Amino acid sequence: MVDVLNKQQRKYNMSRIRAKNTGPEIKIRKLLWSSGIRGYRIHYNLPGKPDIVFIKKKVAIFIDGCFWHKCPFCFKEPETRKEFWMKKINSNIERDKKVNETLLKDGWNVLRFWEHEVKKDPEKVIKKIIATIQ
Ligand SMILES: [Zn+2]
Repeated sequence: MVDVLNKQQRKYNMSRIRAKNTGPEIKIRKLLWSSGIRGYRIHYNLPGKPDIVFIKKKVAIFIDGCFWHKCPFCFKEPETRKEFWMKKINSNIERDKKVNETLLKDGWNVLRFWEHEVKKDPEKVIKKIIATIQ
């Protein structure tokens, strides 16, 4: 558990902003490519910096880390510096909500996937994306 947290801490310290080009995100981009899906932008300058954006279709896609966004299935409270981490995580969740509201208000479709969904069943994620952009 301590190792896991340290790994997360390092990740956090290195980025301090939304992590870019994470494993799950690259996996999705590769699958989109092999499914013949083109024309999306990555890290497009929208509220919340979505991971993948289809501009013309107005679809914004986020792949949320299970730890950072408090996934109901995977999330475990950190055992050390709990207050510090929970504050960070709760502010992420608040920001996610605001980002969703802002994008929806501007007419965007917002798709959010958990990191574990991408790891366990990437095909399902791709199908959902394709269904949304069609
Ligand atoms: Zn999860």
